[in-house]
Amino acid sequence: MNTVTKNKNAPLKLIIIGGGYAGLSALITMRKQAPDAEITLIDPRPYHLIITRLHETVCHPLDSIRVPYSLLAKRFNFIHKQQAIQFDEDLITAWDSNKTIQIGEESLPFDYLLISTGSLPIQSENEPDVYDLNAICQQSFAIILEQFIASKDANEKIINIVGAGPTGIQFAFEIAHVLLACHVKFRLNLIEGSDTLMRAFPVAIGRYIEKRLFEKQITVLKSQFYKGKQGHDILLENSHSGDKSALASDLTLLLLGKKPELLLHANSSGQVVLGRKVLTHIFTAGDCSYYDDFGSNVMTSQSALRKGKAAANNIFREAGILRFCLPYMHREIGYLISLGPDDAVGWIGSRNAIISGIPAFKAKEIIEAQYDLLLKGFNSYVI
Ligand SMILES: Cc1cc2nc3c(=O)[nH]c(=O)nc-3n(C[C@H](O)[C@H](O)[C@H](O)COP(=O)(O)OP(=O)(O)OC[C@H]3O[C@@H](n4cnc5c(N)ncnc54)[C@H](O)[C@@H]3O)c2cc1C
Repeated sequence: MNTVTKNKNAPLKLIIIGGGYAGLSALITMRKQAPDAEITLIDPRPYHLIITRLHETVCHPLDSIRVPYSLLAKRFNFIHKQQAIQFDEDLITAWDSNKTIQIGEESLPFDYLLISTGSLPIQSENEPDVYDLNAICQQSFAIILEQFIASKDANEKIINIVGAGPTGIQFAFEIAHVLLACHVKFRLNLIEGSDTLMRAFPVAIGRYIEKRLFEKQITVLKSQFYKGKQGHDILLENSHSGDKSALASDLTLLLLGKKPELLLHANSSGQVVLGRKVLTHIFTAGDCSYYDDFGSNVMTSQSALRKGKAAANNIFREAGILRFCLPYMHREIGYLISLGPDDAVGWIGSRNAIISGIPAFKAKEIIEAQYDLLLKGFNSYVI
């Protein structure tokens, strides 16, 4: 039987706030290490969202990327509390002193707490025919697009995607694929605030994407900031000259990225550091965390998964007799961007090792399949 307990009679009480990539990776690691631990997951959603596959919802129902926590709870034996916990540094300090968190009337004691609340989509104004990341995580984009295609009014349908990061690019290719397949006359613009596409990535990746965008009749408008919607038009401002312009738009997607509400500083073991105090019983992982030392703090599912696993392992080290933790050392091992069916581009192993086309597409499929397997209880991650 399990030996990872604080004393012989009491199983560890573990609480995870946030059931995204980091939270679930930690939970699955915890369950493996301690079959008798009492694990509670707190997340306001009824399901885990496989957000790295969000672009697939251009063609597939949103349910194809939702995994109900009720299903995961049976598989990994935990309690799901469907609740959002609002917190700040003062509250974390109080949690640390009391080793208890409060949900409404209920007090939940813990031995160890993991905070993995991720990051939030950058907010936008509610405007007609404008959909942001929040909206397309809740409403099936396939249905929005179907209704848009079926609407009779315009001869040429104009779609603007604001934000040419990986999400905007992936959506652009999926949408172009559907519109071309449906023989819809369309104009699709991809609007970017900076002068360069995919600035944080190797140049060859940006070049490959631009070539493919041209082939799919997607126009890239650079150095343009979105300033809102007025009637049928979206308003843009040139980031250099400040010149303002208006662009007709039948459908607008605002894919402006995400940022953490509260970025928690952690030591290299994942323990939260407030002021100079290390909270040895409170860990953090994923997009909401910044770890000291050498491990990757990039906001990717890859880092979130590895931080979650590292934090979970360190919780058991901390709870054990030796009470020492190991540093999180993960370095990014690749990043792939889907460019519609049968095409992708990115790097694997080293940022100089660029792959594209069908091999890149297949590699991306394998990465997603590996995550699906993890959620089914088969952990094939070796690093
Ligand atoms: C559209 C899109 C595509 C992406 N594609 C890729 C990709 O291809 N490859 C890649 O590596 N990365 C990708 N990323 C980035 C990656 O998804 C994130 O880095 C990853 O999800 C971070 O994991 P996380 O667990 O920290 O947060 P999340 O996965 O965002 O999970 C956070 C969880 O916390 C919950 N939560 C939030 N607030 C609270 C609260 N107050 N109380 C309780 N629970 C709360 C949320 O409901 C959510 O379930 C993509 C991101 C987006 C938005």
